[in-house]
Amino acid sequence: MSRPAKAVINLDALQHNYQLAKSLANQERRNGKVLAVVKADAYGHGAVACAQALADQADGFAVACIEEALELRSIGIRQSILLLEGFFEASELVEISRHKLDIVVQSPEQLLMLEQNPLPAPVRIWLKMDSGMYRVGLLPEEFRSAWLRMETLPWVSDIVMMTHLACADEPENGYTRHQLEVFEQHTLGLPGERSIANSAGLVDYSQARADWNRPGLLLYGASPFETLHPIEQKLQPVMALQSAIISIKDIPAGSPVGYGSTWVSQRPTRQGVVAIGYADGYPRHAANGTPVMVNGRRVPVIGRVSMDMLTIDLTDVPEARPGDSVVLWGKGLPAAEIARHARTIPYQLFCNLNRVPVEYV
Ligand code: PLP
Repeated sequence: MSRPAKAVINLDALQHNYQLAKSLANQERRNGKVLAVVKADAYGHGAVACAQALADQADGFAVACIEEALELRSIGIRQSILLLEGFFEASELVEISRHKLDIVVQSPEQLLMLEQNPLPAPVRIWLKMDSGMYRVGLLPEEFRSAWLRMETLPWVSDIVMMTHLACADEPENGYTRHQLEVFEQHTLGLPGERSIANSAGLVDYSQARADWNRPGLLLYGASPFETLHPIEQKLQPVMALQSAIISIKDIPAGSPVGYGSTWVSQRPTRQGVVAIGYADGYPRHAANGTPVMVNGRRVPVIGRVSMDMLTIDLTDVPEARPGDSVVLWGKGLPAAEIARHARTIPYQLFCNLNRVPVEYV
């Protein structure tokens, strides 16, 4: 038998979540479009398989860089593909226009490069305003003049005005309202489409739902919110991280388990070992007590997570046997919940997966 750790990806769930995003996008307007954000190998879910699964329904896709976009073009994706970071040097621009890729333009340097390099075919640009995240984007005061400069370029076909929200994952955070107002104010009167929402903005802020929406995490069935949120009831997790029990032992009360002896049994304990560890991407900081599922029942991780294994308390699941399947996150055990235990975010759990084979169902 080969090592049992694997990530099982349910593409029907991805399609379900995409349709959920579409229905949210259409609450404020007809024809709210949804770009499926599949950067970073679709947050660890496999960009090629995910894009293929959404090829018939997605309005477009978003990736980080040209290499990720060309991979999607090479499998026949014909919709818009947006490069969220834009381009890094002028030499990329010809290929961008040849492959009909959309680009974010977010800095004065990128504006200049676009002006100085006539392109063989027109491109759609997404002019990004920094409405308050203070990461990338043109400052609100620079935005209108940048828009006017881009407008005059014959090799710019359309300008979508966009911004990105810093705190949408915190429900009712006043800063999101502030960003929405800044964006509104500094795009007032400019013709063209707009794009604001990531997953959290799309779910919680009707004002953020615009012509184009850009959810990522939501499509993979995980909640972007820091605390429990009703949207979790409607999402279907796309990934199940699974492994199996490889050993079971009865240990007496007072036995210290694992590196550093951080957990000591308070009673005679059935201790199980699961073949998955931090080298596979399971978070080492999943504290004592982080749940895993064995035969549909939640049991806690005990002791520190090792590189290739972790230990669990099976005392309350006496029927468990070596070889039984263990779910680390998936249906009934949201990745967002595991992330909270490990003091991280589901984004990082997904992106950190390593070594585990991926199986599509
Ligand atoms: N839009 C931009 C500009 C992003 O950088 C990201 C992700 O980092 C997204 C949308 C998708 O965000 P989320 O996965 O929270 O929906």
